[in-house]
Amino acid sequence: MKFKVFKYYYPDYFCRYFGLVRKKYMEDNRIADKIREIIYMIGDNPERSGLIETPLRVESAYKEWFKGYREPDFEMKTFDSKYSGIITRKQIPFQSFCEHHMAIYTGFIDFGYMPNGNVLGISKIIRFFQHYSARLTIQEDLTDFLIDKFYNIVKPKGAVIIIRAFHTCEGSRGVRVPNVTTITSSVRGSFMEDSILNEFLSLIK
Ligand SMILES: [Zn+2]
Repeated sequence: MKFKVFKYYYPDYFCRYFGLVRKKYMEDNRIADKIREIIYMIGDNPERSGLIETPLRVESAYKEWFKGYREPDFEMKTFDSKYSGIITRKQIPFQSFCEHHMAIYTGFIDFGYMPNGNVLGISKIIRFFQHYSARLTIQEDLTDFLIDKFYNIVKPKGAVIIIRAFHTCEGSRGVRVPNVTTITSSVRGSFMEDSILNEFLSLIK
């Protein structure tokens, strides 16, 4: 019993350092236990038949929704290319979770980059954004985080990202305005030049 308590309450920095404990509690229903408690705290009965398997389902959903904290299960493989234009991917669907309310926000990403000798497979661009969005964020920071992460991996001449999203925390509580779009954008490198940025903007129209 003592061992169990010790195992579950390693300090966070220790978990992060070794990575093992975090993985362990992901495996042994610790999230489900907490969800069961939350169901009780909001005033329902976690043992009733409709809810009995909900905690485990939520746990597996959490593992998917927050997969962005773990390494991706695909390789960010690049290919040699002499292409010197803009590669644009328009309206990539993504989802992330607001770090203030843990409420989902969803939307679309428009993305462009100018390669510097190597390109990333086009479907990998989609997987890249979907993987790294799956974490607790604010849209502003997510925008910079994604473009910088891409930059570090692919090392292009420049990149640009525009994110348009609806936030359910804002739509379902507080001010309760469900249909206001939040648009954030970041540019790096060659896209600082007006002519290149304008070309991208006309491509995503
Ligand atoms: Zn929020």
